[in-house]
Amino acid sequence: MEKVLKKILQAKGVLVVGHISPDGDSLGSTLGLFHLLRQQGLVAYAMCLDKVPNKYLYLPGSDELLTSSENFPDVNTIVLLDCGDLQRAGLPANIPVDFIVNIDHHSSNSGCFGTAWVDSAFAAVGQQILRLAELARWEISPTVATCLYTSLATDTGFFRHSNTTPVVFRDAALLMELGASTQTVVENAAERKSLGELCLIQQALANLTQECDGRVTIIEVPRSVYAACGVDLDEAEGMIEYAKAVPGTVLAVLLREVSAHVTRVSLRARGDLDVSKVAVSFGGGGHKLAAGCTINAPLPDARRALLDQLIKVLPHA
Ligand code: AMP
Ligand code: MN
Ligand code: MN
Repeated sequence: MEKVLKKILQAKGVLVVGHISPDGDSLGSTLGLFHLLRQQGLVAYAMCLDKVPNKYLYLPGSDELLTSSENFPDVNTIVLLDCGDLQRAGLPANIPVDFIVNIDHHSSNSGCFGTAWVDSAFAAVGQQILRLAELARWEISPTVATCLYTSLATDTGFFRHSNTTPVVFRDAALLMELGASTQTVVENAAERKSLGELCLIQQALANLTQECDGRVTIIEVPRSVYAACGVDLDEAEGMIEYAKAVPGTVLAVLLREVSAHVTRVSLRARGDLDVSKVAVSFGGGGHKLAAGCTINAPLPDARRALLDQLIKVLPHA
């Protein structure tokens, strides 16, 4: 953490960037650090190379995000958040910077960057940014607190997942005291459901199936459903919660058809499983109990290939 802070303070301009298919932690930590650096009078930019889901547009600064790597800002340092490689950030390997600093909490991150602070004990990268701000004695404004609270709330499934530790609750309380707009966060990032999303829930639930004596519950979302309901792929993200909710499920799988030959996979497990390894074997990554990958195959083929691997890591009934 000290080395990371030093590199950031020495930088001739910083570009903060999270991962594609952005979630609340990626966006919250990116914008949180961006505001912290700007408030210190440092040269800082924030980037997100994918569409920001509507439910995160309340985040202060979401309209200031750079959305293309073409007009690269004049900085010498990138701070890569909530992922462990440039590809996952949507960046080309030959980006014109001198230093890459990585802050992440994924167990699948091999820490290949020179200055990397990777610790899977943190529930969210936003929590690491909070520690960094404390170390640096940077003032945490209500704007920053709202961003970091978003990270913490979304990556813990609003304080429900097994990564919700006493420290998480203390940090959430601290951010609330610092002025985080906690109601705005919950209303947008958790509760908000457009009519299109409700349509999607209705139709996607019809495609729920079970394997392995009900221990694996799978929801498939074909492209036809997005079209019929007028929603984007990212709006189906929460569907996996319904699969995980079915009693007896130790492994929930969400299969989203991106195109005729590309399938997006989300995995959620409970207990003593490690699904990140399966995700890594398909070129993805994640945490022990929450991981993802994209498989270049039609949905039925992806399902078969994935199940072949998942069965190997499932505990015997
Ligand atoms: P998701 O199912 O997309 O919500 O992702 C679950 C977890 O796995 C998150 O921490 C993601 O950042 C991570 N993850 C998902 N897809 C990938 C990928 N293609 N590469 C690396 N990590 C991923
Ligand atoms: Mn993330
Ligand atoms: Mn995260």
